Amino acid sequence: MSTSTTVFEIEERYGSGAYGKRPTALVRGQGVYVWDSDGKRYLDATSGQGVAALGHCHPAVVAAVNAQASRLVSIHESFYNDRRAELYTLLDSVTPADLSRFFLCNSGAEAIEGALKVAKLLTGRNGIVAAKRAFHGRTTGALSMTWTPKYRKPFQQWLPTVEHIAYNDIAAAVAAIRPETAAVVVESVQGEGGVHPADNDFLQALRERCDWTGAMLILDEIQTGFGRTGKWFGFQHAGIVPDIIVVAKAIGGGLPMGAVCWRAAHGPIGRASHGSTFGGNPLACAAAIATLSIIRDQNIVEQVSSNGDWLINELRNLELRRVRTVRGRGLMVGLELRGRVTPVLKALQEQGVLALPAGLNTLRLLPPLIISRDELRLVIEAIKTVLD
Ligand SMILES: *Cc1c(COP(=O)(O)O)cnc(C)c1O
Repeated sequence: MSTSTTVFEIEERYGSGAYGKRPTALVRGQGVYVWDSDGKRYLDATSGQGVAALGHCHPAVVAAVNAQASRLVSIHESFYNDRRAELYTLLDSVTPADLSRFFLCNSGAEAIEGALKVAKLLTGRNGIVAAKRAFHGRTTGALSMTWTPKYRKPFQQWLPTVEHIAYNDIAAAVAAIRPETAAVVVESVQGEGGVHPADNDFLQALRERCDWTGAMLILDEIQTGFGRTGKWFGFQHAGIVPDIIVVAKAIGGGLPMGAVCWRAAHGPIGRASHGSTFGGNPLACAAAIATLSIIRDQNIVEQVSSNGDWLINELRNLELRRVRTVRGRGLMVGLELRGRVTPVLKALQEQGVLALPAGLNTLRLLPPLIISRDELRLVIEAIKTVLD
């Protein structure tokens, strides 16, 4: 399996077919860089879809994983475990006060499913309100809340009923959130949907309406959590506290992990009401402890805030010919293009920069949170070359 052509052929023959792939085999990563099988280096402004918050193979995460791998990899939550207890304590310290009940799982969609079950258990109600343009994952419960018809329509008959309202539309939200509503689910910045930040007064209105009707306000912080937007969690820009938050992507330093966090005031959920074989395994916990400790101890959230403001400002000041508008918060940035994003992603890759799409015509940047100004300048230069 030496040449990249062989790798492409094997993956094409045996893969599910579900992924549109770029013709590049990535085989190694270090910090903000990844390397392909021909030894070419790319600056990874995707962070593996927002996962590699500390960059690839951060030495502290590697050391934590190595140490735990030779001590205890997996033990079910029906036993106690030192690493898991340590992670719970750490999660409690980085989430706002009272968000201190946690269910650990293995991915974003799985955490969304968990949050729906928690909301159902806590309210006994059925109604779900989500937003147009939302992305919450692809398992059936999560998919019912995801907006993109391309993802949702083929499975429509298997999905629970969800009322989709326009994002940032307060009047629509007030009308949709009724006494029978169990949960309102939103992203603090819509990622896949085009990098649209929530208005502060929209989130505040959701909080008020949920308080009034008793619905659970669920914030999907899977992409925005752990510093990405320049605060620990995106909803903190609006000064609200949700009932439930859902996290994944960055939490495990690259290992698969997700979590549902809810207010202790709502109490624990009943025995056997939910569960996961791999959830809270010591290996993923060790990686998460290393990752979150570094984000906290090295003031990475503050660094993201100032670097993000600077990056968005620089990109706006370029006034690029092919860019309609620049949106974002922290190091979650979208450039809405005049035209399709796919050829732009290809051209950027030729310049040595990997970036993401968000819909058909938005270019999305999700670089590792530890990226330096000099490395951001390389991204800006490549964008300038491609889009001016
Ligand atoms: C990535 C993502 C998900 C789904 O996470 P998976 O781990 O792919 O299941 C859900 N919501 C948001 C906001 C995401 O960015």
